[in-house]
Amino acid sequence: MTKTLDAAQLIDGEWVNSLGDAYLSVDSPVTGLQISTVPAVDASQLDRALAASESAWAEWKARSAWERSSILRRASELMTERAEEIAIRLTQEMGKPIVESRLEVAASIEQFDWYADEARRIYGRIPESRNTTLRLAVRREPVGPVAAFTPWNFPLLLAARKVAPALAAGCTMILKPASEAPGPALLMGEVLQSAGLPSGVLQIVTGKAQFISEHLLSSPIVRKLSFTGSVPVGKHLIALGAANVVNVSMELGGHAPVVIMGDVNATQIGRLCASGKFRNAGQICIAPTRFYVHESIADEFASAFAARTAELVVGDGMNDATDIGPLISDSARVRISDLVADALSHGSELLCGGKPQPGEGYFFEPTVLLDVPAHAKIMQDEPFGPVAPIVRFSTRDEAIGHANNTPFGLAAYIFTNNLDDVTVLSEQIQAGIVGVNTFAVSAASVPFSGVKHSGIGAENGTEAMDGYLVPKTIVTAHA
Ligand code: NAD
Repeated sequence: MTKTLDAAQLIDGEWVNSLGDAYLSVDSPVTGLQISTVPAVDASQLDRALAASESAWAEWKARSAWERSSILRRASELMTERAEEIAIRLTQEMGKPIVESRLEVAASIEQFDWYADEARRIYGRIPESRNTTLRLAVRREPVGPVAAFTPWNFPLLLAARKVAPALAAGCTMILKPASEAPGPALLMGEVLQSAGLPSGVLQIVTGKAQFISEHLLSSPIVRKLSFTGSVPVGKHLIALGAANVVNVSMELGGHAPVVIMGDVNATQIGRLCASGKFRNAGQICIAPTRFYVHESIADEFASAFAARTAELVVGDGMNDATDIGPLISDSARVRISDLVADALSHGSELLCGGKPQPGEGYFFEPTVLLDVPAHAKIMQDEPFGPVAPIVRFSTRDEAIGHANNTPFGLAAYIFTNNLDDVTVLSEQIQAGIVGVNTFAVSAASVPFSGVKHSGIGAENGTEAMDGYLVPKTIVTAHA
């Protein structure tokens, strides 16, 4: 096994390796072979990180917002200088096309730039008092040391979305990036260190997720838990955090419905939906997932969708021609195969794809299924992969019923030219984010959040700062 990329952990300002000989392998999803290792943190190192997080917090929150802002701004500049190196590492570790990795790095740079501004816009309130001998004031203070856990599908952006607002607010953070693709977050740690971030403000640990979360969340030092990942792990962490009544933000799974009304150009929207669906091989929490199409255009839509899908090039993300990279693991491929088999056994029609690609790596053919019944597993389980079920509907109310028929409520999409449909669908579909005639719904300036089982709290926008700030009321008597 050749080690081509090495990584250590950032604890109290030092890059440290495993104290024993415990390492985790980081494997290429293109070959299945090891490309690097990361150390597995142990209890004494976590205790060191906790202590550093607490002492650094006292110092970091006492700095002026202008100082915090200028370090974040510098980080955005330094990340820009290292953008290509980070993008390559991202593609090597998790497989997405290099063009998509470059976009992810650009979006992460924007996080540091955006929250450099937000750091200076933390406003309290001076409300009027009924009792004129009392002065009322509300300050907003950083909640405290944060434990953060992020997944592999956007291994840099999803970490940056937590780190940038937390640091802007004056919190410290211990981040545990995804074990499958820890490299981009570790490079982000290097960037922040070079930008002048004091020791202990951001620490990055690697290793066994369950061990790390149990250890960190059993400590009274941690005052906030921020997690992005699946619903089951999110529920487990909420329960762990309850022991110390930690403040919680959860960005969990999605199963985004797409409602396509009968007044759109079926061929054009069918092609657009196929391109949107298979971005990052469908491994996106806001990926368009269930396509509900008005019966008057369903056949034309489905054939355009399948034709566009057949054009997409599956391959190594490092090749410029690649549209769809591998899945993250072989087990993800098995899960997708099972969902496709289940949908077919319930009478769905296979329009294209349907099976893993032979050869090395974790590739799966982009797959389109028509007339998938509501009781097929894929209509309830988050597929998180390159499979698109298409379903016909006849009335708008029926489409709303389908859209709301899962425990998820992250993103939803609507395609129509009718203003009344936009109003009714966008208001009645239960989701934190609604795209109208677009899939481009994520921006640093607007909240990214889910309802129902999809989450608690928000990232992006001024709302992300709310997750890292708590109000303090100060009542002052005067003569
Ligand atoms: P996952 O929940 O299995 O893992 C997510 C992260 O949590 C990983 O780093 C993993 O190592 C870690 N983890 C797992 N068990 C843990 C534990 N006991 N304690 C602490 N950390 C633990 O999810 P995944 O399959 O890696 O990622 C895909 C899921 O993430 C999907 O459900 C997707 O929708 C969701 N997601 C949500 C958003 C969002 O913003 N809402 C964004 C991206 C992904």
